[in-house]
Amino acid sequence: CTTAEQPIRDGLNAFISKDVVNPDITSLSPEEAIARVENQPLHSGLRNIAVKDNIATLGSRTTCGSGILREHRSPFEASVVRSLRIHGTSVSGKTNLDEFGMGSHSTHSFFGTVHNALPFENLSPGGSSGGSAVAVASGQCSVALGTDTGGSVRLPAAYTGLFGFKPSYGVISRWGVVPYANSMDTVGIIASNVIAIRKALFRVRQYDPKDPTSLSDRTWKRLDNRRKSAEKREATARAENGDEKRPITEEQNIDMFGVRIGVPLEYNIAELEPGIRQAWSDCLMSLQARGATIVPVSLPNTKHALSAYYILAPAEAASNLAKYDGVRYGNRDGLADGIDGVLYSRTRGNGFGDEVKRRILLGSYTLSSEAVDNYFLKAQKVRRLVQRDFDRIFAIPNPLRPAQQFDLGDIDESILMSNKLGPNQVDYIICPTAPTLPPTLDDLSKQTPVDNYMNDVFTVPASLAGIPAISIPFPIPETFCVEGKPTFAGMQIIGQYASDYELIKITEVLV
Ligand code: GLN
Repeated sequence: CTTAEQPIRDGLNAFISKDVVNPDITSLSPEEAIARVENQPLHSGLRNIAVKDNIATLGSRTTCGSGILREHRSPFEASVVRSLRIHGTSVSGKTNLDEFGMGSHSTHSFFGTVHNALPFENLSPGGSSGGSAVAVASGQCSVALGTDTGGSVRLPAAYTGLFGFKPSYGVISRWGVVPYANSMDTVGIIASNVIAIRKALFRVRQYDPKDPTSLSDRTWKRLDNRRKSAEKREATARAENGDEKRPITEEQNIDMFGVRIGVPLEYNIAELEPGIRQAWSDCLMSLQARGATIVPVSLPNTKHALSAYYILAPAEAASNLAKYDGVRYGNRDGLADGIDGVLYSRTRGNGFGDEVKRRILLGSYTLSSEAVDNYFLKAQKVRRLVQRDFDRIFAIPNPLRPAQQFDLGDIDESILMSNKLGPNQVDYIICPTAPTLPPTLDDLSKQTPVDNYMNDVFTVPASLAGIPAISIPFPIPETFCVEGKPTFAGMQIIGQYASDYELIKITEVLV
């Protein structure tokens, strides 16, 4: 095994371990055996995947990019990895990341900074799943798993020219994924094309009883049926108004007729780089030319989403990280019996990096009795408002928030529709993934932590709401291109909860 002191480097530092010994899958549960038969043959492109190093794998370390777990070997494997393995996929390596997923540029890793594979000087690869993105971008694998709590799959995809998909919360099992902020953590998929994302999602989307937030097949089906009948009702209503919506089929795959795309006005911020604004506008124009209707929408609470995220995520993180004390978990630093009186402080002081310490301080403060009302509880309220903003503008109601809090069972779907807070407006939302093109690592060294946090302004709202989103690369017109920066910008398509496959389908049509 590679020691922490001698990490394997590939010039880009995308991997923490490449020496993964893929264990044989010897015993399958009856469900796994059925799934294996049903899903044969293995789709090409999924033979080898890279896995972010905060997702537990057998046969390699799982370090979370942290000094405190630099030697850690998990005794079990994450469900998401196992479900890929039972179909014959091997893990080709464990990818570098911001420590415990905290960061936006993959610069906060015990194993060093990840470098963007684009042929420009020293650009940030985005974070925290920067290693996964660079592994794909540099052709070392065709699909990589990352985690996305507030944008960590979408931002690296946007900075490296890839597709990065964050599923609805609960769609991919989190069992075996080292938690950062449990209420927002998701496993995401990065690939160079959207078809690979669909295939990978198909492999990993399954109910996992080990993850209490995993959507059961029954619930998934019920949500799907509710969504379909809501869609049908909506199509009938539109037809009555002469605003027919044709279903998108394989044959009509250039036809976006009747699809309503929301453009959130609040995302057109002053800090948005001109090239990105132009790419956004071009993207909307091309959709319009193909029949889509562009609808300006308002998400008024977006402006508070970032602050709410940076209260809630560190609060959850501070509580999650309390267990790394050198006694229960973590590389022990200090005398085992603690008689030197510094076991905790040395273990945590030397084991965690600066950004993680900052989050622990932030989270511990906002959860403290003097601050909890003004920070943590307020942020929870803002989170509800952000969720309501989305529910108000999507044409389809949120299947998780029916009008009444009890199980609707077979009750008329029209009751469900009453959770809508406003008129039916849009099927999807399109906005940039980030307000700027990737900064250089030198620029970053001059930024404050808050400057770094600002970068997540467009990705955190979907995370707070638990809804699916995908970042796709879109060309920037030549006159707006900036020297030394990529000629594409990440555009984000956001859908209503549980519309993951539809979101991918519309992306396939779009690209
Ligand atoms: N950049 C965000 C943060 O640091 C998001 C990280 C993530 O999605 N894991 O919290």
